[in-house]
Amino acid sequence: MSVRHSGIGMTSQRTRLRMVERLRTQGITDEVILSVMGSIPRHLFVEEALASRAYEDVSLPINYGQTISSPWTVARMSELLRANEPLGKVLEIGTGCGYQTAVLAQIAEKVYSIERIGPLLTRTRIRLQELHVRNIHLRHADGLHGFTETAPFDGIIMTAVSAHIPPLLLEQLKVGGRMVFPKGTLKQNLCMIQRSEAGYSETILEEVNFVPLLSGVVKK
Ligand code: SAH
Repeated sequence: MSVRHSGIGMTSQRTRLRMVERLRTQGITDEVILSVMGSIPRHLFVEEALASRAYEDVSLPINYGQTISSPWTVARMSELLRANEPLGKVLEIGTGCGYQTAVLAQIAEKVYSIERIGPLLTRTRIRLQELHVRNIHLRHADGLHGFTETAPFDGIIMTAVSAHIPPLLLEQLKVGGRMVFPKGTLKQNLCMIQRSEAGYSETILEEVNFVPLLSGVVKK
């Protein structure tokens, strides 16, 4: 693991454990998620200048106008996706800095993650390699098409907001699987879709704040 910033007190194990305690008081109950988030060095996913703020409960800028989701948001979405069971194949739309990807990699067998901004993904690919996160497959593409050749997925997580559920993603969800994403326009809420033999059901949850889902790819 990279030792970058390792001397900074604010990025120590103690700071991480304080974050975990705060997540508990904010209602996160899945011990597996809490333990995973207590072990991943979140400060290595933001620029060095922001490292001391990495464990605060805020989203932070990560270049190209994008943001790393707040710890609570990552924890809540992961908890909803996991539903207290180990996950098999997971699809993530919106790799960004890769923090959510690193969390998913510890709670799922394999994570397929798609990012539309090429240079952002290049940086994230290096970061996740340095952190020895291996059970992931990253792709530079428009996530709206999903990952056809490896579908269906046990879980799908989308970390950019959309007014509608992308239909191709719904098709790529396994029967018995769950999809979690922010839905809305001006006001956004977490939305959980569960697929059963009978069809799809939707649950609307907490209010959140995400950058928009956009179509097409950015090459450089
Ligand atoms: N979960 C990540 C990223 C959050 S920001 C993190 O915490 O760092 C949302 C990300 O979704 C951005 O990186 C944005 O470029 C990406 N995104 C938006 N629309 C997309 C699309 N259609 N396909 C793939 N990625 C997309």
